[in-house]
Parts: sequence; C-alpha cells; structure tokens
Amino acid sequence: MKILVAVKRVIDYNVQIRVKEDGSGVNKDNVKMSTNPPDDNAIEEAVRLKESGKAKEIIAVTIGEEKAQETVRKALAVGADRGIHVKSDNYIEPLGIAKVLKKIVEKEKPDLVFLGKQAIDDDCNQTGQMLAAMLDWPQGTFASKIEHKDKVIEVTREVDEGLETIQINLPAIITCDLRLNEPRFASLPNIMKAKKKPIEQLNAKDLGVDITNRIQQIKVEEPPKRKSGIKVANVAELISKLKNEAKVI
Ligand code: AMP
Repeated sequence: MKILVAVKRVIDYNVQIRVKEDGSGVNKDNVKMSTNPPDDNAIEEAVRLKESGKAKEIIAVTIGEEKAQETVRKALAVGADRGIHVKSDNYIEPLGIAKVLKKIVEKEKPDLVFLGKQAIDDDCNQTGQMLAAMLDWPQGTFASKIEHKDKVIEVTREVDEGLETIQINLPAIITCDLRLNEPRFASLPNIMKAKKKPIEQLNAKDLGVDITNRIQQIKVEEPPKRKSGIKVANVAELISKLKNEAKVI
C-alpha cells in the first residue's frame, strides 16, 4: 500500500497571533512556523501502517513557499520515505490546493491519502473533502481511529451522538483528527538520515491547474479584548449579579 500525506506549514500553535495594523492579515515576520498539528497525526498514522507491514511507501507533500520544504523534511524525519514540494510563493485556497493534490495523486497513484482535518491558519476544513469529490473517491473525515482490512478501511469518527464507524473502499481520502494518535518526536539520527531522503521540486504554475484564488479577504481583525472579571463577596451577591446584571438566570 502506498500512502500520500499532505502536510501544511502554518504559524506554530503556541504563537500569540498578531494582526497587522492595516487589517490586511496576520504578522508572519520572524514568527515560529510548524507543521499543522493534525498533519502530524496524519504522518504518524501512515508511519504506524508502514511499521505494521501494511504500507510500503509514504510520500509527504506540501504546497507553499521555499521554506515549506522544512515541513516535508520533518515528515521524512519521522518516517516518510520521500517528499514532494510544490512551490508557490502565494497563498493558495483549499480549492487550488485540492487541484494540485489531485495532480499528484494521478501521478503517484496512492491507495490512501491522509490529510489533517483542518488547517489551523485558515480553519477551512475543505481540502480533503474537495479532493475526494474531484477524484470521486470515498472519504472518511475527522478520523479518530482507523483500521485497515485488505481492500477496505474502517474509520471511526466523532459525531454529536457519539462515535460513528464507517467502512470505505480503497483508494480513499482520510482526514485526521488530533485524537487519532500521539505523534512521535523525530530522533536526532533520524533527522540526520532525513537530510538524505529525496524531495522532488515542482512548481504549482507548471502543473496545468487553475490555482487562481476566488475569495477576496476584506479585513482581518483581533477578537475583542476580554473584560477583567470581578470578585463577589458571597453567593447572594453572585446570584443577584447573574440575575440582574448578566441576566442569565
Ligand atoms: P484546510 O482545508 O485548509 O483546513 O486544510 C485541511 C488539510 O489539507 C490540512 O490539514 C493539510 O493536510 C491539507 N493542506 C491544506 N493546505 C495545504 C498545503 N498548502 N500543503 C499541503 N497540505 C495542505
């Protein structure tokens, strides 16, 4: 089985995001960047399938600026076999990313494509679903557990009513939830070994797909500052404030 994993470079989840003064976006200068967290789960799951003998090859793919290659390199350090970096200096919307990934899927012919359930920068939660629609492949989204059984895969997903388990045929698209597994850290020897693993360089413009963005971002603004809390002297005062000021009871 061959697995393709899409990994995106995003602002690290620990960074306090700062909006640019002109409201044109968020400040990315000198800001720590990392792999989108659920994409780490996606790589981890692929590596576990390889370790269990069910997968033969793992390819990590990213689309983004020159430095996005670091994200592929990190995937190689935790167990991916080779990488693909599709270069683009501009932000590409999920539709464009899905079109680029479709091209890669047609070339590489994987049995499974793993993506994160959502990118923490644009919070779109669209790429996997769009890719599945364009390829006309079954999809298992928000996977919190997967079990591979020959030509099918069982995907457990968290839904409002509890846990739903579906069975889908391969080839398939799986989008991974943070609950799927505990991603490992890359060891120093594996980081060194990853430097020798191949990364194919492609250019988004040369792939023959329309990656023109269709959404115009009008404004980005900070969420309103939270007001400081107050201390009440006793339960009676608390009840009175909840009733008369907050009007929640
Ligand atoms: P989104 O639809 O933007 O929330 O992204 C969902 C998932 O699609 C991410 O977790 C990644 O697995 C994948 N993805 C989105 N953008 C990229 C990108 N530029 N390069 C590689 N994978 C991406």
